[in-house]
Amino acid sequence: MKTERSAGLHDQAKKLIPGGVNSPVRAFKSVGGVPRYFEKGSGAYVWDADGNRYIDYVLSWGPLILGHAHPDVLASLNDAATRGTSFGAPTHLETELAQLVVELVPSVEMVRFVNSGTEATMSALRLARAFTGRDKIVKFAGCYHGHADMLLVQAGSGVATLGLPDSPGVPEGATADTIVIPFNDLEAVEQVFAKWSDRVAAVIVEPIAGNMGLVKGSPEFLHGLQTMCRDHGSLFILDEVMTGFRVAIGGAQAFYGLDPDLTCLGKVIGGGLPVGAYAGKAEVMQTVAPVGPMYQAGTLSGNPLAMSAGLAALRALTEGDLFATISANTAKLVKGVVESGQEFNIPLQTGNAGTMFGVYFLAGAGADIVDFDTAKRYADTERYARYFHAMLERGVYFAPSQFEAGFVSSAHTEEDIDFSLKAIREFMEAERGI
Ligand SMILES: *Cc1c(COP(=O)(O)O)cnc(C)c1O
Repeated sequence: MKTERSAGLHDQAKKLIPGGVNSPVRAFKSVGGVPRYFEKGSGAYVWDADGNRYIDYVLSWGPLILGHAHPDVLASLNDAATRGTSFGAPTHLETELAQLVVELVPSVEMVRFVNSGTEATMSALRLARAFTGRDKIVKFAGCYHGHADMLLVQAGSGVATLGLPDSPGVPEGATADTIVIPFNDLEAVEQVFAKWSDRVAAVIVEPIAGNMGLVKGSPEFLHGLQTMCRDHGSLFILDEVMTGFRVAIGGAQAFYGLDPDLTCLGKVIGGGLPVGAYAGKAEVMQTVAPVGPMYQAGTLSGNPLAMSAGLAALRALTEGDLFATISANTAKLVKGVVESGQEFNIPLQTGNAGTMFGVYFLAGAGADIVDFDTAKRYADTERYARYFHAMLERGVYFAPSQFEAGFVSSAHTEEDIDFSLKAIREFMEAERGI
């Protein structure tokens, strides 16, 4: 496979952009090799600068649930762009998208649009603190909520440790009120509330973690969390930036029957343009300026192009049984992976949640990944790197890291899935006995 042009472009980029990339995982650091520079995408496929074609299971890290360059999204974008790209004044498009979100996401009564998932979680936590008059927040190790200082927190081992910053540049003060505990561990949550009962503003969680591979929250864990938040006057925040419109049309909250106070959205809601949103109960959302005292603003927030793309995407996604078809194709992919793993005795853990999926190669049989600790301990990152490159060579593009979820779009056909599974089977056969 030719990669000269991508390699050359990457060399140029590295001189001007740190690591040549504008978001770290894109640089292939954990799998090695030349990051592909994409020139074109259409439906389920992307083409790199050397003319190689790939079936894309990254889909811009989730947003492109209709595939690349979907005609409805393009038409909507084109229409919006010809009317002007930004006003810094309200447009009806914002109300239309808010209306659709309220209709589709069960717990949501009001919405505020921002420009990224990072802004959504950052603002939701400010809101929770403003609403409750409390300072502490609880997050779970391995859950990613964007790169705001207070959320870039390492897991302390053991229970209910106060977080230490994950990155240089994050002052200790920024994370001093962030409590980090293990995912899927309700006892740890109990201990936090036992200690800081009336000081916790909010608990934020990815209901299905998609940023440490794919780890599902157990229903007991998530419902227990919601109940404890209610009992202690803390807000229950679901970070559905990834799971929203992916696990089910109504997000993970529809799937589990949860009723969060606040929901963070992003990715799919922007149809491939930069959008985020925080949303929830009117009583809480009324605390946001200009109605209430909590300040949050954005020059390009509610941008007409982004709103148009989001509207077109959500409208297309909710037509007929499209969502069920994408989910069925995702399940078919996962089933095929399981079968190849069994055939060649490759220990793995895989699963899907609606239209997202995860594949862990395990360092030994019997290992079970349920949280960040077990993900780091049991995931065979070396085998994943071999898998990633074997797939790339065969024209299948998965995430360049073991600890990321994969995504399927409405543009992926059964033939695309079959082609991918054939490639996966070949890899597993070659790995037998390694
Ligand atoms: C992607 C993601 C974010 C951050 O969104 P950005 O748009 O990258 O800032 C936050 N939370 C979750 C669960 C995500 O998957």
